[in-house]
Order: sequence, then C-alpha cells, then structure tokens
Amino acid sequence: MTETTPQSPSAAGQPFTTLPLSAPMLDTLQRLDYLTMTPIQAASLPLALAGHDLIAQAKTGSGKTAAFALPLLAKLNAKNFAVQAMVLCPTRELADQVTQEIRRLARFEDNIKVLPLCGGSALRNQATSMANGVHIVVGTPGRIMDHMERGNLKLDDLSTLVLDEADRMLDMGFHDDIAYVAKRCPPQRQTLLFSATYPEGIAQLAKQFLRQPQEVKLLEQHAETKIRQRFYEVGKDDRLEAVAKLLKHYRPVSTLAFCNTKQQCRDLLNVLRHAGISALTLNGDLEQRERDQVLIQFANRSVSVLVATDVAARGLDIADLEAVINVDVTPDPEIHIHRIGRTGRADREGWALSLCSAGDRRRITAIAQAINCPLELEDLASLNDADDAPLVPPMSTLLILGGRKEKIRPGDVLGALTGEAGFSREQVGKITVTEQNTYVAVRRDIARDAVRKLSAGKVKGRAVKVKAL
Ligand code: ADP
Ligand code: MG
Repeated sequence: MTETTPQSPSAAGQPFTTLPLSAPMLDTLQRLDYLTMTPIQAASLPLALAGHDLIAQAKTGSGKTAAFALPLLAKLNAKNFAVQAMVLCPTRELADQVTQEIRRLARFEDNIKVLPLCGGSALRNQATSMANGVHIVVGTPGRIMDHMERGNLKLDDLSTLVLDEADRMLDMGFHDDIAYVAKRCPPQRQTLLFSATYPEGIAQLAKQFLRQPQEVKLLEQHAETKIRQRFYEVGKDDRLEAVAKLLKHYRPVSTLAFCNTKQQCRDLLNVLRHAGISALTLNGDLEQRERDQVLIQFANRSVSVLVATDVAARGLDIADLEAVINVDVTPDPEIHIHRIGRTGRADREGWALSLCSAGDRRRITAIAQAINCPLELEDLASLNDADDAPLVPPMSTLLILGGRKEKIRPGDVLGALTGEAGFSREQVGKITVTEQNTYVAVRRDIARDAVRKLSAGKVKGRAVKVKAL
C-alpha cells in the first residue's frame, strides 16, 4: 500500500532547525550554507527521519542527496565500524558525487567512513578498505553485488538502503542486480527510493522491496519565468547545422546539447568543431578517466558545449548552464521537462532551445501545455548569423600530472599560481584534484603563461609536469 503525502509548499524554505537533527549536524549544515530546505527535502525529511520507507520523485538538482543522506547519518552509530547504510547509484560519476556530498554532511562526526564501490577501481583495494571498517558504502549495483558474492560486504548491521536515480538504474538494466542486493539486506531496514520520473517499473520495484512506503512527489514546477523555451522547425538535413546557428546567435557560455543517439552525438560534435565551437561528448565508449576529464572541462567552463544522450547526462550536477538544446524533441514530455530543468537554476535565466520537425507539432504542443507555457515557435531564419565569430569559452584547463596520491590539494595549486607565478585569484577558476591528476581552470588569455610558470616553479615543493588540454 502506498500513501501519498500532499506536498506542502509552505514547508519548503523552512530552516533545517525545524527537524529533529542533532546540534552538531545542524551546525554542519549551517557551515555548508544549507540554511533552508529545498522542496523535496522539506517534503521527505520529516517522513524519512521518522523511519518511514519512502518513494520520492523530484527533478535533478533539487537536493535529493541530502534528503536521504541526513536520515541515514542521523541513525548511524560511528562507534560501530560496520556497514550501516548502502546507496545504489546508476553510474560511477553519480556514486562519486553522492560520496562527496555524504562526506561533507558527515563532517559533524570525526570518523565516519564513506566508501565508493564502483568499477574502475581494484576490487582488492575496496575489499581492504571494507575490512578496515566502513560505515557507508555508495556504489553501482554490479560492483556491490560482486563484493557481496565474494563475502567482502557484510550487511548484518545495515539499517538504511537507498536506491538513488532508481528510474535510470532500471533503464540501464540493473533490475536483477538491485533485486539480488535488496533481498540480502536485513528485512527491518529502512528503504528510501529516489527517482526523477515515475515509470511503471518503479512501482513494481517499490512493491517488492519497500514496506508501506510514503510517497512524495514534487511535480515539475519550473519557474516558467526563469526558463525561456523556444522551438525551431528544421528540415531533416540541416538539424545539426542549426545547432551551430543557435549557439552563435545566443552565445551561451555553457550548453548541454541532448541527442537521441550516440551516432548523432558524434555527428554533432564534428559539425560544431567545424563551426569553431569547442565541444566534447560524453558517452559509454569513453574510458572512465576520459569521462572524468570531459566533465571537469565542461564544469569549469573551458568547453562551451557538452553533447550527450539522456543516459550519459543523467543526474550530473552541473551548475550554471546558460542553455539546453534539444537536438531532437524526445517522445516523452517528462524527459523533455527533465532535460530543460537543468538550465535556469538558482535564480538565473536559462534558454531551452529545441529543434523540431513539422511532424512534431502535436508533441511540442503537449509539452507546452504540460509546463503551462505558451508555445514559442520561431523561424531559424530569424537568427542573427552575421556574427560568425567562433564561440570561445572563457577558461582553459591545465592538467597537472599528480593528484591525491601525491597529496596535492587545491590550495597548493592556487598557492603556486597566485604566489611565485604572480597571477591573481580572479584569473584562476575551478581546481579539481583526482587520484592521479589535478585540473585547474585559468582564464584563457593566461593559459600559456600559466603552463610556463607552473612548469618552471613548484607545487607542494616539487617540480610538476603541466600541459594545457
Ligand atoms: P539531486 O540529487 O536532486 O539532483 P543534489 O543532491 O545533487 O540534487 O543537489 C544539488 C545541489 O544543491 C548540490 O550542489 C547540493 O550541494 C545543493 N544543495 C542541496 N540541498 C541544499 C540546501 N538545502 N541548501 C543549499 N544548497 C543545497
Ligand atoms: Mg541525485
């Protein structure tokens, strides 16, 4: 049986202090600048903290991670070095993001161990980490199952199971793996299921593995004023060229372009590069390290366009997108709405631009109705293509060989650039340290100079190899 809790809009925006959370926890939230709850947090936290199983549906970027991380942390006994919470995610990137977020939220307590369990890292290292004692594991269903089969992962003390991005996990064919894992969790555990959409498979999954779940649905309510949506009708053969035209007309700094197939991603990439637009694509054929690099370069604003399919782009937390372009209209209005919800966040305006064919008329009318927004159908010919200047991203990424393994921290790199090298803080952007590498965004005009000076100087007392990507 499922109960639906009507969302209470008044609860959103309320401070976390209205929740039964410990003082150190509240303190941590305040330090993170989490002052008020997002709508999904306001709707789900009271239920989850009271111990209910939960089905929660809300769009990407709505704060779902904290909505499950806080309840699982609130129950955790840090003195018991056994796995007490497990989060299943569809991809390694998402598992990494969730791990980071839980670690930030877990700072109130000294010694909470959160371990990501995904492919791409050695099974043996992960097993050793678990043997040394871990409180929370976050991973992809396949890898977690692997560890369970090998007896590395003991779930006797598990009190919370989270299925994050459950719809995507089902799309990716993880149903049986999820079932394997869920069946072996203690029956008394709490199960929290998060999903951006609510296809039939989710109801089935919930029926199998949740107990009297409360249901929290936050229907899409994009501030229609923040996302400006326009459709352009194109012929079959000039669809990809039209994307370049849109980019040169609107000139957004960061754009996510959705394609329906991988082949279309590759074709679009060629067209954009030809037009002098810096673009990268994210697809399953890339090695993990390459995927990480793509995401880092896009998020730090040194690449203008990220071309991706829905699967590849799912759940990625990329802030500050000026535009989303739908190279094709998707058949499913819910997916369309989910795609365009990635722009216009946090009180910024964003463009949702969609290319459609004459046959898509009914579809786009349905979409416009679903989001209660007038249908703006524009003519491609109205675009200004007088300005054919290349679209140049503001930043450039430098790759420093050496990362966490070498104990490099962002502060070391910032110090090297603003110290001896003599650059200002404003000329330096995002710094991302991975296991092996460090990526630092610098303003494009100083990139060459920065490579030279970093190579000549030292980072953390050591000479380093640096190159511009
Ligand atoms: P989702 O899982 O729904 O896509 P995330 O959990 O990744 O969303 O959160 C999106 C972003 O919002 C993250 O950068 C997170 O740190 C931030 N965030 C979440 N909750 C709050 C809050 N209450 N106040 C401020 N920022 C928040
Ligand atoms: Mg999420």
